[in-house]
Amino acid sequence: MTSPIVRFAPSPTGRIHIGNARVALINYLFAHAHNGRFILRFDDTDFARSTEEFAAAIEVDLAWLGVAPDAVFRQSARVALYEAAAAKLRADGRLYPCYETPEELEKRRKMQQARGLPPVYDRAALRLSDADRAKLAAEGRRPHWRFRLEPGVVEWVDLIRGPSHIDCAALSDPVLIREDGSFLYTLPSVADDIDMKITHVIRGEDHVTNTAVQLQLFAALAPQATPPLFAHHNLLIGAGGEGLSKRTGSLSIGSLREEGFEAMAVAALATLTGSSDNVHAVRSLADLGRHFDISHISRNPARFDPDDLETLTHRTLALFTFEDVRERLAALDVVGHKAEPLWLAARGNLRRFDDFLTWWRVVEGEIDAGREDPDFLAQAAERLPAEPWDDSTWSTWTSDLKTAAGRKGKALFHPLRLALTGAESGPELAALLPLIGRAKALARLVG
Ligand code: GLU
Repeated sequence: MTSPIVRFAPSPTGRIHIGNARVALINYLFAHAHNGRFILRFDDTDFARSTEEFAAAIEVDLAWLGVAPDAVFRQSARVALYEAAAAKLRADGRLYPCYETPEELEKRRKMQQARGLPPVYDRAALRLSDADRAKLAAEGRRPHWRFRLEPGVVEWVDLIRGPSHIDCAALSDPVLIREDGSFLYTLPSVADDIDMKITHVIRGEDHVTNTAVQLQLFAALAPQATPPLFAHHNLLIGAGGEGLSKRTGSLSIGSLREEGFEAMAVAALATLTGSSDNVHAVRSLADLGRHFDISHISRNPARFDPDDLETLTHRTLALFTFEDVRERLAALDVVGHKAEPLWLAARGNLRRFDDFLTWWRVVEGEIDAGREDPDFLAQAAERLPAEPWDDSTWSTWTSDLKTAAGRKGKALFHPLRLALTGAESGPELAALLPLIGRAKALARLVG
């Protein structure tokens, strides 16, 4: 395959959610697997609803997920290209003005339905004479513009869904330009895909019908060029089968980040759900990319449970090496020679990254030592080995105590853990004890 060029084209009319992240990640991983380029293209021709704030937030969310675009474009800055494309379509008789109001169209649809006909636009506007149009214009009506579809079946081989086809007789001629002159998504998308030499359009299967229209537009605008290949993936749906809308606030990438879920946990769930690969924790997008293949995406709905982010976050943290988290720890003032050994000891015990600070306090700060059985703790304090301490100190000490105090199992270990860490459970004490050090251990044992 020659190096692919793909694009993620969100509308900056809201925050992106985990379903949008799925589209971005699938494109990104596909590009990276084949040494290609990933373009972020803001679909912001809907001026009334698009904002710079949402565009900026989408960039932040993608960066958090590790998705770094090779280029960023805004469609609002490229209108000249779309005007030129529209002019070509007009000149070729493929774009025609229509004057119906939404109410008139709705009335016609109802009549068609009542007569058992499909609600397809009847092309009444194509039958208007110049005089009719002039009259409508004089009444103050401004046209919207429709693309005249060629009759027939459009076929393509979808990289996920296999051979696909859509009969254009079942489709209305799509509106490309609104009454106020602004473009709907369809034409700018194709004009840009041609201009940016997009090789693969990878997007959710809610766009399958658009593909028939867009393939006709490709042929109309760039008859010599090879259109991109298309891949339509399944959409993430909730456990109860409900779809995710952009307004599903709790599943926005921003709120998942605020809840402390790990970016790689979100990325793994967003990408691997609904594929033949098991959803499993990964350290990085490179790691995720090693398992990911677009052909593994299933045609069944991608049913997912946001609660899986709990386990995945826990497992992701357990995979991180110290290098993976060194900077994040430094930002929490976790530095010095204890940072790495403590990370390695505690990473398997974290629900959230910030939980690490609890263990950092155990070795570097003050805690409320739990004091169960003070006599035993006093005896344990007396038998604390002399320094230097290492990973074997814990077993040397507790073997000695076991004989001296005649205790074993929970009766031996539990009071020690509670006194030394203030917690009922946690990382291996063999690793923690040398990091706590003799002076702190002694003070916690004697109270
Ligand atoms: N803005 C469209 C969307 O977010 C883009 C679809 C496409 O990739 O062509 O659904």
